[in-house]
Amino acid sequence: MSYAIPSWDLPSVPVAGSDNLFPVRRIYCIGRNYAAHAREMGADEREPPFFFLKPGDAIVQNGATIPYPPATSNFHYEAELVAAIGTSGANISVDDANDHIFGYGVGLDMTRRDLQEEAKGMRRPWDMGKGFDASAPCSEIYPAASIGHPTNGAITLTVNGETRQSGDIADMIWNIPESISYLSGLVTLEPGDLIYTGTPEGVGAVNRGEEIVVHVDGVCDLTLNIS
Ligand code: MN
Repeated sequence: MSYAIPSWDLPSVPVAGSDNLFPVRRIYCIGRNYAAHAREMGADEREPPFFFLKPGDAIVQNGATIPYPPATSNFHYEAELVAAIGTSGANISVDDANDHIFGYGVGLDMTRRDLQEEAKGMRRPWDMGKGFDASAPCSEIYPAASIGHPTNGAITLTVNGETRQSGDIADMIWNIPESISYLSGLVTLEPGDLIYTGTPEGVGAVNRGEEIVVHVDGVCDLTLNIS
């Protein structure tokens, strides 16, 4: 059988240190996973984790330039560590979670904050605030076999060289094994799934012509330009 319309390539990001690509299936994002960011968004920092999704083809490659998106005048950056799932699993225990991780990257959860806030106010889904075209920049994936499983270290974001976010991945409310365990009780995680693990405080707007650089110690840098 052939497809009735032209098929397309799987979304993917490069695997660092190899000629391979990491195929991207689904993009799960954890909301409010750093206490100070939860507070700046007006939330109780001790809530259980919650998740939302972006389409897999919202991926943007490291170093890319994306257009300022439509339908917003408050386009926000959120610097995040990304965990890349390599083996499937449901009801994964915290102790087993790292065995399901292929590697790690550095990501941006780009957000149309005005649309997200409108959706919150009207008790509607966040999709159009979070899951739009080019909303998920992600670096190359560094295999855990090479870099291990990062549990602490700086996560920083600059806009045109000026520091806007500066946190530590040790300050996640729900660490990555806990998040994987919780999420895998809601859905079966599959190879190719990416988990964006939340952002520290300091989120804010970015404008046309600006350059964002995200750094996570022990992983890499991610650069994104807005045109
Ligand atoms: Mn986020």
